[in-house]
Amino acid sequence: MITVIGGGPAGMRAALTAANSGARVLLLESGPRLGGQYWRHLPEEGAEAWTGQTALQSDYLAGFLLRNQVLSNPKIESVCDAQIWSTTKNDASITVNFLHDGISHSFETQILILATGAFDRTLPFPGWDIPGVMTPGGAQALLKGSNVHAGKKIVVAGTGPFLLPVASGLAKAGADIVGLYEAQRLRKWISYSGVAILNLRKIAQGANYLRQLRQGRGFAVISAHAGEDGLLKYVRVAKIDTHFRIKKGSETNIQCDAAAIGWGFTPNLSIVASLGLQQIPGQDGFPVVAVDELQRTSDPRIFAAGEITGVGGAELSLSEGMIAGQSAADFLGKVSRSATLSKNKSISRRRSRQRKFANTLMRIYSVQDGWRTWLGDDTNICRCEEVSLQTLKASIHELGVTNIRSAKLLTRVGMGACQGRICSRSAVEIIAAEQKLKATVEEHISAGNRPIFSPITLGQLAQQPIAYDAL
Ligand SMILES: Cc1cc2nc3c(=O)[nH]c(=O)nc-3n(C[C@H](O)[C@H](O)[C@H](O)COP(=O)(O)OP(=O)(O)OC[C@H]3O[C@@H](n4cnc5c(N)ncnc54)[C@H](O)[C@@H]3O)c2cc1C
Repeated sequence: MITVIGGGPAGMRAALTAANSGARVLLLESGPRLGGQYWRHLPEEGAEAWTGQTALQSDYLAGFLLRNQVLSNPKIESVCDAQIWSTTKNDASITVNFLHDGISHSFETQILILATGAFDRTLPFPGWDIPGVMTPGGAQALLKGSNVHAGKKIVVAGTGPFLLPVASGLAKAGADIVGLYEAQRLRKWISYSGVAILNLRKIAQGANYLRQLRQGRGFAVISAHAGEDGLLKYVRVAKIDTHFRIKKGSETNIQCDAAAIGWGFTPNLSIVASLGLQQIPGQDGFPVVAVDELQRTSDPRIFAAGEITGVGGAELSLSEGMIAGQSAADFLGKVSRSATLSKNKSISRRRSRQRKFANTLMRIYSVQDGWRTWLGDDTNICRCEEVSLQTLKASIHELGVTNIRSAKLLTRVGMGACQGRICSRSAVEIIAAEQKLKATVEEHISAGNRPIFSPITLGQLAQQPIAYDAL
């Protein structure tokens, strides 16, 4: 039995490939439907509902077909609304504990494929906790998953190619995009123009968006402001230099009722950390799970695919999922090693071309240290626990905090409901910068290391998990 965690492009592809190679597969997904971030869709499951959303994303039909193949495969049991909250391992097996229908279940597996994706990267700034300020992924999830519009007049800002489909989707749904601001300049592409050839389809897609949308480049939202009702009224936008420092006098206010601001993605490594798998610095210095050519992690029974091996988009996730599924079936003895190697060969070439392209995008759209100059002393770094920059700085300079662990203990930064998913990456960078150091990969790993990584009530924790009887 192979267990796949995550029902996005990587997980669905891995599950299907493993099942087609003869393995039995349990696919666990915390969301209500398969599809992941990329193929998030309305609750209606028919082809019509999926194709009806192609205005938001052109390849919804591909997602629909893949999802149907997964659901109709007799060797795959998929369980949605299954939130993994802890995992442990010993020599004989790996234990996966998950909540389903409010009850804690436990499942023993010999082989695991991790495909838990990524979440939006946020940077704190004054007013980022005002209702109406959200991430691009949040605004898009409301639209794709519930047909809810984040606002009427929306500012989309931050960095990365993801801003374009979000702004375009919101505009098509009827929102007035009152500003679309990219922090990086288009000329950064010049040094990497040769790489464009690696993914002409994506380049064409980007050019198409840019024909439809007017984008300000070299600008950032540096603060957000509420009206008397406490809701977002306007954002302050400024021109920034290549280090993300504000160009004085360039600030202007843009009236809006929603602002979708994001700075790329952060791999979701909670399970990777809890299983003690090796992590290495990714393209942007943030950890990713280390995998070999076969998508095998540092534990040969555990494979990984998709954004957790390095953010790279849905197509790369699909390629990695295919290789992980094939390699896991091989490990289970369902296919021969030579079949795996020959099947993986052509996909490997595609994977390395896609990875090269993804790494280039990360270099072009890299976040620069100057964002810290936008913060005020009273800006909350941790929104859940309301820990301000001033509190964090005082803990470093007055209480001797030197790392994220001691900062957590003395300030509660990263200890709230989101368990540091939103703030800990920024907190680690601030703590390092205050000590005139560079944030290390070990510090980021330490910030994300938790034996229990999803919210669970004391009652659920106290229950003996029910052994899950798969297939
Ligand atoms: C909010 C958001 C929106 C995005 N939208 C786009 C887009 O429009 N276009 C684009 O090109 N790229 C988009 N991306 C990038 C996107 O991550 C990839 O393109 C693609 O979805 C990656 O596939 P994946 O399978 O690696 O991860 P994902 O699609 O993220 O799938 C991972 C799955 O794992 C599940 N999971 C995570 N943790 C657990 C757990 N503990 N227990 C059980 N299940 C778990 C998640 O619910 C999720 O469904 C988006 C990313 C984010 C974060």
